[in-house]
Amino acid sequence: MRIKIRVSIFIATCPYKLDEMNRNCHLTDREILDVLSMSANAFAVYSTEEIIIQIANDAMIAFWGKDRSIIGLPLDEAVPELKGQPFIGMLKNVLKTGITDSGKAVPAETMIGGKLRTSYYDYEYRAIKNEAGETYCILHSAEDVTSNVLNLQALERAREKEEQLEKEQQFNEELAATNEELNAINEELHQAKQSLQSLNEELEGRVLERTIALAESEASVRYMIADAPIAIAVFKGRDMIIETANQKILEAWGKKSDIIGKPLHIGIPELQGQQFLSILDHVYLTGEPYYGNEVKALVEIDHTIKELYSNFVYHPLKNGQGQVTQIMLIAHVVTDQVLARKKVEDAEEMLRFSVEAANAGTWYMDADTHEFKGSGRLKELFGFDRDEEVSFADITSRIPEDYRERVDAGVKMALSTGEKYYIEHPVVKPGDHKEYWVSAQGKLYANSEGKALHFSGLMLDITRQKQDEHRKNDFISMVSHELKTPLTSLSGYIQLLERNSKKTEDSFSSQMLQKAGNQLNKMTSMINGFLNISRLESGKIHLQKQQFELDALIRDMIDDTRISASNFKFELIPCEPVLVWADRDKIGSVISNLLSNAVKYSPNKHLVVVKCEIKDNNAEVSIKDEGLGIDHDDALRLFERFYRVDHKDNPNISGFGIGLYLSAEIIEHHGGKIWVESEKGKGSTFYFSLPLPG
Ligand code: ADP
Repeated sequence: MRIKIRVSIFIATCPYKLDEMNRNCHLTDREILDVLSMSANAFAVYSTEEIIIQIANDAMIAFWGKDRSIIGLPLDEAVPELKGQPFIGMLKNVLKTGITDSGKAVPAETMIGGKLRTSYYDYEYRAIKNEAGETYCILHSAEDVTSNVLNLQALERAREKEEQLEKEQQFNEELAATNEELNAINEELHQAKQSLQSLNEELEGRVLERTIALAESEASVRYMIADAPIAIAVFKGRDMIIETANQKILEAWGKKSDIIGKPLHIGIPELQGQQFLSILDHVYLTGEPYYGNEVKALVEIDHTIKELYSNFVYHPLKNGQGQVTQIMLIAHVVTDQVLARKKVEDAEEMLRFSVEAANAGTWYMDADTHEFKGSGRLKELFGFDRDEEVSFADITSRIPEDYRERVDAGVKMALSTGEKYYIEHPVVKPGDHKEYWVSAQGKLYANSEGKALHFSGLMLDITRQKQDEHRKNDFISMVSHELKTPLTSLSGYIQLLERNSKKTEDSFSSQMLQKAGNQLNKMTSMINGFLNISRLESGKIHLQKQQFELDALIRDMIDDTRISASNFKFELIPCEPVLVWADRDKIGSVISNLLSNAVKYSPNKHLVVVKCEIKDNNAEVSIKDEGLGIDHDDALRLFERFYRVDHKDNPNISGFGIGLYLSAEIIEHHGGKIWVESEKGKGSTFYFSLPLPG
């Protein structure tokens, strides 16, 4: 078939060559055309640049959907729907280049039955050339392969579809597998979710428990802080916001709880200018705690700036990253202790100053061991060197013997009973003929449980004072003596005159002279008192002891007093007759002095009760009046020399304040005791006791 077409193509190349072909094959053009027309293959021949259709068989005309009238027309005119398609251009190119063009299953659109239809053709545009090689026409052959193409396309589509299906199936399988996996994962996820849920529930439970426990512990910490016996506060942030402050610290600051939530410098404005705010800032920045010991702060309490002393710590509280977020203040307020100690220190300082100023010596004696320590000045007072090692025995060896006994007794008494110790005594320094005097005053010190710790005191040089006293006593003694001589003469003259007036029965003169005699006696007893004092002080008082009945002496003295106090009632409650060993005159003067005082200091009441008792081998005498009475402070000092109570309401009661002093000296020289019990406005009772022999 193909060979046939070639032949026919060769034959049918160009019309003006048909004659030549005809001559060779002896076929007419008509016959050649007929032959070609019978070919089932479509063909056409075009010439000239306009692509004029020279020849087209029926098959080709059928492809174009036209009729034979188109022969001789340019192709684009004959088949106008080819315009816009590449074929006419391709034909022109073959004409121009002489290169045959062919293609397979090329789509072309033609108008068939009034409809534009796409058909597929295998085609060839063969360039037919003359002997000179010039292209003078084109042989167009075409085979309609539309059904093949469509079949192929259908096949392709079917294949593609199959492939698609396969892919889809594969995809589906993969999807199913993935689905299964997903299901499995889902299942795992479900299980995981369930276990997560239960874990979550468990965690929530635990968190709740923890939260409750935390809240409880927070609450208990808060209660603990609130009730703590020490002062606690917590400051937050660098602004030192007062976050917590317990009652103790609020009390110490003198503030109320409304300062909580405020910055420290606003809650306690008086802290500005004091050291604390900058210390807190330093603790906040460095994270290092700060300890303060007995630090003074000034705080305003009830509108007054007061001193507050405390031992405290600023403790930094840090978060998980180690940053300081809060500072806790824990303080122990020691204001009372510090002030008390300062007071003691001040008192000690003052004491030291006083001791130095008074140039006093001091001593210390251990209450248990009796170990003795004297200050340098004390040693000096006894004629030792300041640095010398000196014992208590060394010290007492320099006290004259009669005083040494009293010193020993006084120290023993102070150590055993805690009684105050006061004594004045001379000191004899070796190789020195001068007389020195010291006064010693001490007491037994005990701890808070009452246990005796030490016996300590002060010693002063009273030599000058004693010399002055001696001079004064000498003077009094001299004056008393000088007064006593004329008084004695006067008394003699009065007695003479009295006797005379009795003889002449001059009762007026006799009365007057008796009164003058009484006054003279009073004066004499006063002067005797002064003389006794000077004798006593110069150690010249001598007891002339004898045995006598005490109650008889008391009766005598009451009788004597009655003479000058006739308006008084004296009651005697006597003791069983008892003999005492004492100086009768001096004990008599003591009783007389106590009786005359009872009369003198009872201006409105007139009862005096005298009682004598035997107690514990002592004779105890009491003289009770209902007079002015004495208050406590005065009662303690009544037996001091020249001590008188200031009786403002009764300024006319005169005296020198020596009667009780002398009485006390006399009783003490007898080894007895003298004391008073009294209440202001309710009378007094004076007592003395004398030890009974054996
Ligand atoms: P005077 O010469 O002053 O009486 P005394 O030594 O006898 O000296 O007494 C001292 C002081 O004691 C008196 O000044 C007086 O205030 C007070 N006194 C003494 N006896 C009594 C008494 N019985 N009642 C009240 N006061 C008394």
